[in-house]
Amino acid sequence: MFIRVPKGTQDILPEDISKWYYIEGMIKEILSKYGYKEIRTPFFEYTELFVRGIGESTDIVTKEMFTFPDRKGRSLTLRPEGTAPVVRAYLEDSMGRTSKVIKLFYLGPMFRCEKPQAGRFRQFNQFGIEIIGTKSPAADAEVIITVLAIYKKLGLKNLEILINSVGCKKCRVDYVQKLKKYLTNKKDFLCSECKERYTKNPLRVLDCKKDSCKKIIESAPVITENLCQECKSHFAQVKSCLDDQKIIFRENPRLVRGLDYYTKTAFEIISGGLGAQNAIGGGGRYDDLVEELGGKPTPAVGFAAGIERMIITIDQQKIEWPAEKRLDVFVAKIDKKNNDTAFRLLQKIRNTGFSADMDYSEGSLKSQMRIANKMGVRYTVIVGEEELSKNMVILRNMKTKEQKEVRIDNLINELTS
Ligand code: AMP
Repeated sequence: MFIRVPKGTQDILPEDISKWYYIEGMIKEILSKYGYKEIRTPFFEYTELFVRGIGESTDIVTKEMFTFPDRKGRSLTLRPEGTAPVVRAYLEDSMGRTSKVIKLFYLGPMFRCEKPQAGRFRQFNQFGIEIIGTKSPAADAEVIITVLAIYKKLGLKNLEILINSVGCKKCRVDYVQKLKKYLTNKKDFLCSECKERYTKNPLRVLDCKKDSCKKIIESAPVITENLCQECKSHFAQVKSCLDDQKIIFRENPRLVRGLDYYTKTAFEIISGGLGAQNAIGGGGRYDDLVEELGGKPTPAVGFAAGIERMIITIDQQKIEWPAEKRLDVFVAKIDKKNNDTAFRLLQKIRNTGFSADMDYSEGSLKSQMRIANKMGVRYTVIVGEEELSKNMVILRNMKTKEQKEVRIDNLINELTS
């Protein structure tokens, strides 16, 4: 019996890899133009980073982490998200010392032990951006604008931007009291998870997707009506920056995100065609996280997007992928006797900068031509005894199907012309 990939994971096959190169290339190109520098953190971290960073009572920490001990018994966890590791690196490498505001991005796999379904995997890829060191509302707007620029360049349409402010430590305390009071006599009608959330982290009830809870949440007090002056003014400035850039968004006063570190701005970008898992990306401000992880109080804002969901959306919106890059040249040999010459010629062609390949299976010329056709090369160089005796090879233009004998020492010129 074959061993299969673990549940919730998938191979990215050679025929799909060009989609990944294209998206990743576009992300890197735009982010570097916008002044972000890439950071690569380990795929696993000490568990306490996520417990402290994401929040003890979040779904991610309570039930979705892949956690295992190292040989000395210290608890490690496969990273479920990128922000806490980036902040850890920011502190560990004293990045704040060299420049007050740091703009970083990351790209790579994340791991969450969720129930797999369409658009939801246990290993999935995210790209994310973080601006650490500024409380400017313009930075919140920049994060949204930057991500939209990437989506736009990829041709994604019909995306909806939902935005909210979840307040700060000061105003949230009062709001949570109000929310708790509202929920007290409705507690029995909440789902079992929300009953627990009610005690441990009532704000999370707002995030419940179950119909029974959603109904209760509909009439709950909203946080935007309970913001302190500073949070209110910050939110107004973020919205005004977005308005100024003609970015259409919808306010959703019940939007809270699955990670506890958010303060003030929280936002989500959804794509209608994705079905139940409709969030293509989300983010917000996290002004307390740096301090929470042992640093000086340092405001920050960021965003993360799922790459699989971007690919699903591109396919679902029937946006054309760019044509795959084809090789320039295929080297074929008439007889296996000519293997060494063909091999040497192949290296020479590659060394001059052409992309080229040959077939190592010792198949017939016919089967080699089939391979060359499938590869879509521009030229095939055919090496045969008769031509070699004259220091020549056959050069076949695969498009016009014309072929001619060319001198070996003139082959590169012929390929260039
Ligand atoms: P989060 O880190 O939870 O804020 O998620 C940010 C984005 O990552 C989401 O909007 C999704 O696009 C993507 N994402 C999160 N969890 C998964 C998952 N299990 N499978 C695929 N994509 C995911």
